[in-house]
Amino acid sequence: MATYQIDRNINYTNFCTEYCSFCAFYRPLGSKEGYLLSFETIYKKIEEMLELGGTGILLQGGLHPDLRIEYYENLLRSLKQQFPASPSAPVSRRRRSAALRKSPASACAKRSRD
Ligand code: SF4
Repeated sequence: MATYQIDRNINYTNFCTEYCSFCAFYRPLGSKEGYLLSFETIYKKIEEMLELGGTGILLQGGLHPDLRIEYYENLLRSLKQQFPASPSAPVSRRRRSAALRKSPASACAKRSRD
């Protein structure tokens, strides 16, 4: 038996101060290639994942020295408000039902055409 789940890694920032030798992802502070996603952009990425029938996210990012614990608390609080975790929550169920009506493959194909 094979199982799978659809989820999405969201890299909220690539600014990092660790400079691990194997890492091609990080950018030093001040780099023009560095970014810190807005909460709205993170919401949009979650919406895209839900539209494809996804059920989970992994928030992953560099070690940004300016992001204190309050940033993460605010982010998680806002995500909980935007996307209620309960499977019985009306918004989540509606999105999941809509996503399940089309297969992930067809949704991906449509996205690649758009
Ligand atoms: S992003 Fe992670 S792997 Fe890359 S340099 Fe920073 S701590 Fe190391």
